[in-house]
Amino acid sequence: MPVSLSSSIEMIDTLQFGLPCIGAAYHIYGKRHALIDTGTSHAATRIRERLGSHAPDFIFLTHVHPDHAGASAMLAEAYPEAVIGVHERGVRHLVDPVRINESVRASTGPLADLYGEMFPIPVERIVVLKGGERFDLGKGMRIEVIDTPGHAPHHLCFFERSHRALFCGDALGIWRREMHVPATVPPSFDSEQSLATIKRLAEYQPEYLYLSHFGEVRDAATYIDRYDLLLREWMGRISELHRSFSDEEVIRKVLSAPKFQGLEEPLFLELKMCVRGVLDYLDREAC
Ligand SMILES: [Zn+2]
Repeated sequence: MPVSLSSSIEMIDTLQFGLPCIGAAYHIYGKRHALIDTGTSHAATRIRERLGSHAPDFIFLTHVHPDHAGASAMLAEAYPEAVIGVHERGVRHLVDPVRINESVRASTGPLADLYGEMFPIPVERIVVLKGGERFDLGKGMRIEVIDTPGHAPHHLCFFERSHRALFCGDALGIWRREMHVPATVPPSFDSEQSLATIKRLAEYQPEYLYLSHFGEVRDAATYIDRYDLLLREWMGRISELHRSFSDEEVIRKVLSAPKFQGLEEPLFLELKMCVRGVLDYLDREAC
């Protein structure tokens, strides 16, 4: 069942990696309906079932990683009236996903099948977003678009002011299995931009956060402060190890922390990607 979080917001568990409570899409409804993120291509049928008779008017994508935008082409086809809102830097990947599919296969390794393929969307279905746009959903609800680079250069967050609800994609990390983990995946994680984004999001003073991974957070201010600290610690630890050890050794040392033991395999492999994303960033910065 979808989880109703308020009278106008519900969460759809996309069953990412075939597991519960890993990936979420959100359905917001005033007079018009908006879907935020779609899950992987494997989630298309599930999203359609959960939306039932509520055809979305807008499908907003926080970014074009396949666990967020993977089902967007299938849903665009299923809902011919819906416009697909995406960051200007993500448009080319939606129209022609060949490069992103290759990059996902290269960076996710054994997880590639679970992430699925992305399929092309006709360009005329796309609304290009830069941040600053507003979309009226009726009943006093409005979606404001925020440019939030860092996790990826094509990352956006969406703010619904009447609920003080921030749909933050991966900009504030990953919360799963009672653990807060920095979302620092390859190929284009940028630490400085991420920290600037965290600061910008705090200035919106949201009351509720809706994380793609995973669920609702009610004490938004504390969570945002904690993510700022967590990301700085994560960067500090990996940078320090990076000075003395090979990439493989850094990954092994970081992942040997007791709190990371006993995770399901896909989650452990994803964590490994998050270390690799920081190593890639440090190498880029050193050039
Ligand atoms: Zn992502």
